[in-house]
Amino acid sequence: DPPSYTPGLDDWPSSNPVPYSFLAYALASLAETRSRIAIVNILTNTLRTIIICHPPSLLPALYLLSNSLSPSYSPVELGLGPSVISKAIQHVSGLTPAALKRLYHRTGDPGDVAFEAKSNVRTLVPHPPLLVPGVYDALLRIANAKGQGAIKQKQAVVEKLLVAAKGEEIRFLVRILCQNLRVGAVRTTLLTALARAMVLTPPPGIPTNDTMPSRFYVSQDALDEVKPLMTDSKKKVADPARLLLTELFQTAESLLKEVYVRHPNYDNIAKALLEVGLDGLAERLPLTVGIPLLPTLGSPTRSLDEIYDRLGLLPFTAELKYDGQRAQIHANKVDGSASHIKIFSRHLEDMTDKYPDVVSLVGDILSESLETTSFIIDAEIVAVDPIDGSLKTFQELSNRARKDVKIDDVKVSVGVFAFDLMYLDGQVLLERPFRERRALLRSRFPPRTPQEHGAARFCHVVSCESEDGREAVEDFWQMALSSATEGLMVKLLDSGEILEEPNQRKDRPRRKPLPATYEPDKRTSAWLKLKKDYVTGLGDSLDLVPVGAWHGNGRKAQWWSPILLAVWDPAAGQLVAVCKCMSGFTDAFYKDLGERYPLDSETCSKQPMWDPVCDTGGLKPEVYFKPQEVWEIRGADVTISPVSVAALGLVVPKRGLSLRFPRFIRIVEDKGIENASTPEFLAKMWRDQQANGKDRTGADDGE
Ligand code: ATP
Repeated sequence: DPPSYTPGLDDWPSSNPVPYSFLAYALASLAETRSRIAIVNILTNTLRTIIICHPPSLLPALYLLSNSLSPSYSPVELGLGPSVISKAIQHVSGLTPAALKRLYHRTGDPGDVAFEAKSNVRTLVPHPPLLVPGVYDALLRIANAKGQGAIKQKQAVVEKLLVAAKGEEIRFLVRILCQNLRVGAVRTTLLTALARAMVLTPPPGIPTNDTMPSRFYVSQDALDEVKPLMTDSKKKVADPARLLLTELFQTAESLLKEVYVRHPNYDNIAKALLEVGLDGLAERLPLTVGIPLLPTLGSPTRSLDEIYDRLGLLPFTAELKYDGQRAQIHANKVDGSASHIKIFSRHLEDMTDKYPDVVSLVGDILSESLETTSFIIDAEIVAVDPIDGSLKTFQELSNRARKDVKIDDVKVSVGVFAFDLMYLDGQVLLERPFRERRALLRSRFPPRTPQEHGAARFCHVVSCESEDGREAVEDFWQMALSSATEGLMVKLLDSGEILEEPNQRKDRPRRKPLPATYEPDKRTSAWLKLKKDYVTGLGDSLDLVPVGAWHGNGRKAQWWSPILLAVWDPAAGQLVAVCKCMSGFTDAFYKDLGERYPLDSETCSKQPMWDPVCDTGGLKPEVYFKPQEVWEIRGADVTISPVSVAALGLVVPKRGLSLRFPRFIRIVEDKGIENASTPEFLAKMWRDQQANGKDRTGADDGE
């Protein structure tokens, strides 16, 4: 039942594509709220309406709502500069460039500018309404315009869209064109909303009741009883109905998320949902060679003692933690000799073009093995000496060119240090224990030294087993400390049970199962990282997003300093400022930063105007940066802060956490802002620090 904010679709001819105005008004309602409950409800109802009115509009709606045009691993870029958009607004509104500039200074947002600029324009001949699939196709046309005359073609499509757009449509069209919807939490909430919409409003033709047993759908009577919850969350409904709804939602959400982390492709998900519903989804969309899965992540620990405490007597392996770039390698033998090979980053970007030497290595592995037809391997690509294979620094690796590298131009040799095997010859291995995956990896993929100069080498990771005794593990750790690696990755070999970490709410530690399976998108306790730097100072480094700055003083007068940094709060879908940072930067870095964030530009403004929003609490910067980078930051310790609202109330009521003496380490190229450290992570660091006897209060918030 769509709430009143949506224009009624009652008069809309059924089976016609959904009008774009419907989506634009939903986006306008989303922009007005920060409440996650409201966001989930608005999105759920929007998707339900689309599923009822015109199922084929579902896929373009999902893309338009998530501000993207394609899966992240095969990005479709609009390729639009701000001048094309502002010229189009000018033509459509008849305003002068100076008038538009004034409007921009007042509102600070191109969408708001277009909305106001067009509000006075009278249209004599009414335009046919914009439709959701039509808008999506127009955006694809903009993206696909290439070569000579492309700018003109793009401009023509943008103007046609803006001429036809009315009211809120124009605001959100322009924001989509600028790739900045300014609507909180949509991307992280979309799967939840889609799962709920599917439970409440199954698409036509999906068996939903007693005709076929289903884990997700109930009879129409039961559904009628629970539906009011979606429109009035305060209404008291009978407990069994509430429980039923909660259970259905949870089962559907966890299924959809499980499918998404193995197969992050909305094209295939929307199609499968409409054809087979939730019940058949997982079988329809398995792990697939060529489509990256979200990677497993490790949890930080501070010492070998802590590792033994956390894993108890469960057998583990300690591997060297190589300092390079994570690579998910997909390979598929096509007709005997040729092969399809893809290399994806930790953030699921396609970096096949960056590593032609690795592609050639993998091609050789495939063609030389008669039995191997396909695989997905998790690995770290590390810069190595071309002759003896000794490890080189991360810095060395980052000197490699990024795009369209030709194999003859490769200057920095690499080694592929394979540490996991998720798929082999048509078999998904995610559910197998690590011991078994590792044995297969080692036996089927032996190490290879380069056959010719310039080719990559294939290596097994160097490791030590807990079964060899504590002394052997201690020695291995000592060896890691003096090696050119970051430390250790400790991994559970077989699934088992551990004692759950006690926290304030649970008085006694409880036993908890700990799987040694491959867990996509989870920071699992079965992977523990122990970094060399943990031995001194703050355990782990943090990955923070630069979100604002102050004008520097004295020598730094021309630069931004200090810089405001933020954590990413996935539950709220927003950033939260945590500390100011002014150390670890070189002069060259400051200069570069000023060029990346020039005042009053697409990336730096006096107004907080970016998507996702950032809650700055008591840390109000003079300018706001567009959140787009992730920086590795190390600090002396985590402190309770009177001004920071990061992790507010998580360790002390009404108080946030901050970082003392934050120091910039490097830009993390392969992480997006949604991979930045979370408030929970910060709170855990604080708790670990307390447990280790470091008890500091009183923040200096990075000054
Ligand atoms: P960090 O910034 O500490 O590398 P992260 O958040 O990128 O952490 P984590 O899962 O926490 O990722 O740490 C594991 C990372 O270490 C992997 O992403 C991978 O790039 C790298 N790595 C190096 N050697 C190994 C190994 N033997 N096993 C697993 N990961 C390894």
